[in-house]
Amino acid sequence: MPVHPEYRPKLLSSREVVPGVRLFRFEAWPGFTFLPGQFLMFHFADDPKTWRAYSVCSDTADSSSFEVAIGMVGAFSDRLGALKPGEEKELIVRGPFGKWTWSGEGHAVLIAGGTGVTPFRAMALLGKGKKTIFYSSKNKADRLFGDEHAAWAMRGATVHARATREGESRWTAAEIVSATDDSSAVFFICGPKALVEDMKSGLAAAGVDAEKIRTEKWGDYTDLF
Ligand SMILES: Cc1cc2nc3c(=O)[nH]c(=O)nc-3n(C[C@H](O)[C@H](O)[C@H](O)COP(=O)(O)OP(=O)(O)OC[C@H]3O[C@@H](n4cnc5c(N)ncnc54)[C@H](O)[C@@H]3O)c2cc1C
Repeated sequence: MPVHPEYRPKLLSSREVVPGVRLFRFEAWPGFTFLPGQFLMFHFADDPKTWRAYSVCSDTADSSSFEVAIGMVGAFSDRLGALKPGEEKELIVRGPFGKWTWSGEGHAVLIAGGTGVTPFRAMALLGKGKKTIFYSSKNKADRLFGDEHAAWAMRGATVHARATREGESRWTAAEIVSATDDSSAVFFICGPKALVEDMKSGLAAAGVDAEKIRTEKWGDYTDLF
């Protein structure tokens, strides 16, 4: 088994960005680099058996710090959310890990709900490639990184956002394929199991080749969007 180095990065800031979701910025360790879509594993030194994965959501061009955006949904995320800069001494991070990545080749269609948009922020911030994002949240006020969509557009990303509790329906795979209208596009789906599985089968039914569908399942939960 390869041994992955452990780091104790300094917490630079933590703030609530939409209700129930906090954005954390950490000082990166020397040589830090990641590919959009990769995640880090976090645990506390006094609880070494409890690890959680968080996708790096910052700009790959920044090697001095990195960001993760985390929903406050359970014991581990709540403990992280309570940390203030200077209180992170017990926090240990390893990584980055993961082969579910996109580095700006061709056209990526990025499909997410709620916090599942975090890895897509790193992709949206890339200065290359065409990005089309289909995003659902419960309300407009829950739109994670909603205030950045204009800046993402300057880097080649188009965002189609819907608020499912404000009279808009969730995106369907058939709608996404029709709106994309690009047989060369590669589809990335991120979030809870039900969203990922429904979208995957829907894209296949709409004629998208299996090798053009890339999925990242976070867990079995539904209360997101
Ligand atoms: C590769 C990967 C990357 C991930 N990246 C992120 C990320 O960038 N941001 C993030 O918030 N989470 C992310 N997650 C989920 C994260 O690892 C934890 O599962 C989550 O923080 C819950 O841990 P907890 O101990 O706080 O709550 P738990 O007690 O473990 O879970 C409480 C409940 O919340 C559900 N849940 C898990 N994640 C979420 C979520 N995001 N929103 C709503 N409910 C959820 C669980 O399934 C469970 O039902 C990622 C998971 C994977 C596998």
